[in-house]
Amino acid sequence: MIELGIPPLILQQALQLVALHFRYTVLHTNTSAAKLYNLRCTFRCSNAHPQHTIENRIAKAHSTLMIFNTYPGPPFMPRSATLAKPKNQGKSYTTFLKLIVSAEWLRQIRLKYPRAPQPPSGNVSSRLHAHFLLHHLSLCKNLYKLPPYLTMCGHRKPMSLLRFQSQSHQSIPTHMLTIDDNQRDAYDSRLCLYCPSGLTGSEIHLILECPATSHIALDLIQFLTTLLYDTCQPDWTTLTTHQQTSLILGDPPSTLPKKFHHVWLKSILPAILQ
Ligand SMILES: [Zn+2]
Repeated sequence: MIELGIPPLILQQALQLVALHFRYTVLHTNTSAAKLYNLRCTFRCSNAHPQHTIENRIAKAHSTLMIFNTYPGPPFMPRSATLAKPKNQGKSYTTFLKLIVSAEWLRQIRLKYPRAPQPPSGNVSSRLHAHFLLHHLSLCKNLYKLPPYLTMCGHRKPMSLLRFQSQSHQSIPTHMLTIDDNQRDAYDSRLCLYCPSGLTGSEIHLILECPATSHIALDLIQFLTTLLYDTCQPDWTTLTTHQQTSLILGDPPSTLPKKFHHVWLKSILPAILQ
């Protein structure tokens, strides 16, 4: 769901509950619901207060997103929300919360792989781990934003690249889950169908190494080599196979300054989607 900017349900709910707190304590303080909410909040810590009330869920949402500074009072107002027209303040505050959710989402992903090395290598244990190792540098952004290949080249069909990026492409054995005797197969037992020696059929193998399929990417590699040279980036041959694959799958080089990302993507995305 990272590819489509859809956060885990627990974070999505936390965002909505914190935004509701904002509405009750800042935007619509004169409504009956807001007055009732504020009154019930004062009794929240008593034993008689039921567990699953909206007040308790809102308190829990604040701790999930680690927003403590002014709770249970009216929340801190970011500058964007203070300057917004009154009717847009709620929307502006939600946009501000999305950055907090995105940071927490990223923290939770990284927590799963605390030893995820830089630059990436190591034994891959799952599809999610493979995604993290390939694209971890492009995750340093607002995860709510759709990736550029979905937004920049609207007239081309991005479905194949989306499948590559979300680890669900039919041509890549490690993307295909099989279950035998109620047992899920291990990531590295999903072997390349073309190589007799039992090599793991990961996207790195299929795109760069496999004698049967690696020729498909040759034109693109030529294009990338020239583009790296023209933009004064490290030479293609000095990159790790993870870095090379991530470039082929549409991430900009990690060394390229952010202000040049748009130009890079405009040049390379049509060829990748092709
Ligand atoms: Zn192979």
